[in-house]
Amino acid sequence: MNIQVLGCSGGLSGDNKGGSTCIQLNHNIVIDAGTGLNQLSLAQMHQVRHVFLTHSHMDHIAALPTFLSNQYGSEHLPVTVYAQPHTLEKLKNNIFNGDIWPELSSMTEGPEPILTFKEIHPGECIELEGMEIKAFAVEHSVPTVGYSVKSEGKHFVFPADTIAGKQLTEQLNRLGHIDTLMLECAFPDELLQVAEKTKHMTPSLLESTLKSLEQQPVELWVTHLKPSYEIALRKTLATNPPHKNTVVL
Ligand SMILES: [Zn+2]
Ligand SMILES: [Zn+2]
Repeated sequence: MNIQVLGCSGGLSGDNKGGSTCIQLNHNIVIDAGTGLNQLSLAQMHQVRHVFLTHSHMDHIAALPTFLSNQYGSEHLPVTVYAQPHTLEKLKNNIFNGDIWPELSSMTEGPEPILTFKEIHPGECIELEGMEIKAFAVEHSVPTVGYSVKSEGKHFVFPADTIAGKQLTEQLNRLGHIDTLMLECAFPDELLQVAEKTKHMTPSLLESTLKSLEQQPVELWVTHLKPSYEIALRKTLATNPPHKNTVVL
């Protein structure tokens, strides 16, 4: 399995120039459609057939409307967008509503619709081209799922935007051995109250989450740093890494 983090910033700019959250799995699957999706060329976008969304927040869906419009002329339609019912409802009502962007799901390119929306629920597992992609619920300010991806003997886990706590620990422990765990760290510890209110992580919460796990992952990728606090967060995470193999993206 080839994992490319096209973007994982908690905003725009900052040290992570890739943009906001978008993770590419092989050439035809992405998790989230943040501005990182813009790293792909038009030909590469035409290869993407499956989009798995974690939640409705803008930094995770910002590039979805234009990405889907770019699919006209692709030979591999339709694109399937998987998300929880809450996320799909918000997309349909607030983005693909004919005002902000066309209702692409009802439009066709030749005989094929350009897009299919498909509900996914926590606990559900989709098998695609040798990959097992399983959704699991996490605690964020809107209904959110993380994804566990198993392929070729490797296990990649992305809990998306989430706060630390019993739910996250239980979900991660249930997933067993993890090769790569990609966890967010949006705010510094001084802003713990903001992190708790918006259901995000801080370095201390990250550390306590790792300590609460029955098995340590092989490596930890830290993502979703808010650009305003990025310098301070990188310093803290370098001085006191939450895991022996910590990579701050
Ligand atoms: Zn969010
Ligand atoms: Zn986010």
